Amino acid sequence: MSNLKTRKDLDQVFPEINITSNAALSDFTNTDTGGPADWLAFPTSIEQVQQLVDFTFENDIDLTVIGNASNLIVNDKGIAGLVIILTQMNQITVSTDRIVAQAGAPIIAVSEAACTAGLTGLEFAAGIPGSVGGAVFMNAGAYGGETKDVVKKATVMTREGEIKTIENDELDFGYRHSSVQDNHQVILSAEFQLVPGTVATIRAQMDDFNERRAQKQPLEWPSCGSVFKRPVGYFAGRLIHDAGLQGYTSGGAQVSKKHAGFIINIGGGTATDYVNVIKHVQSEVYRQFGVHLETEVRVIGRQ
Ligand SMILES: Cc1cc2nc3c(=O)[nH]c(=O)nc-3n(C[C@H](O)[C@H](O)[C@H](O)COP(=O)(O)OP(=O)(O)OC[C@H]3O[C@@H](n4cnc5c(N)ncnc54)[C@H](O)[C@@H]3O)c2cc1C
Repeated sequence: MSNLKTRKDLDQVFPEINITSNAALSDFTNTDTGGPADWLAFPTSIEQVQQLVDFTFENDIDLTVIGNASNLIVNDKGIAGLVIILTQMNQITVSTDRIVAQAGAPIIAVSEAACTAGLTGLEFAAGIPGSVGGAVFMNAGAYGGETKDVVKKATVMTREGEIKTIENDELDFGYRHSSVQDNHQVILSAEFQLVPGTVATIRAQMDDFNERRAQKQPLEWPSCGSVFKRPVGYFAGRLIHDAGLQGYTSGGAQVSKKHAGFIINIGGGTATDYVNVIKHVQSEVYRQFGVHLETEVRVIGRQ
């Protein structure tokens, strides 16, 4: 860890960047849980990201990048070092059959922009509450579509501060996986290759997906979406339902009665409650069916 100890230090180094110390991350996570970041920064430009990446690298400070925090459980002890939230870098530029979006743009907004421009391919993302960076990182997908199907390339910054363009085939996309999960790069933007279509048809498809989502998912509660990956040959939600775990509660975290794959915060839930529910679900499903449920949601921060 660096020789920097206080907020004043970072303020002095980067007076032009919005940085706070000991910032509650529960204000930003979709589960409304999570402890503080030592420092939390909201850069507004690539130059500011570069300054922060270089500084943390040179001073051996931990760096964590967050998008919309819709697939995260931040441990109650918080995150050491600097957390960067990219939501203020949210430009979306549409051209004939392409969209370039900065990492902090909501993927829902990119999907909307595609629809308005009569471009098809991003309908699947109409209701995914993540950022472009998070969608690429996770290879987010729904209703038969995945981010990998439409991303042509991504621009990233390496931990050493080098900016690189990575083509789709180098992103090593798989089920809820991309190469960025392994090499700790910061995704700065992505280019989506789309196909001309009819606005009304695109809109109808997006509306249909969103209606299906609202019917099945507990969108009225804080959550982190589907907690578990789909095990080969099974559906996580079905196994959890069949194990009789819907409604199982620890503190304020509860396996949703509406969708067994979701864990909702019914009030006052903590990250520890979430982790306790996850562990219980994993052990019960394993005990009853011999299937290991791997988490899709990422649990990060101090143990
Ligand atoms: C109600 C609900 C419904 C959901 N439905 C779906 C669905 O249908 N399909 C689906 O796939 N997911 C779904 N999710 C999960 C989530 O929305 C997606 O995984 C989304 O892609 C996460 O994006 P994010 O910006 O919120 O990422 P975060 O949760 O902020 O971060 C997730 C991971 O990505 C990393 N990351 C984020 N941005 C960057 C960046 N710029 N550079 C480097 N790393 C980065 C973070 O470090 C973290 O490890 C749902 C979640 C909720 C709450």
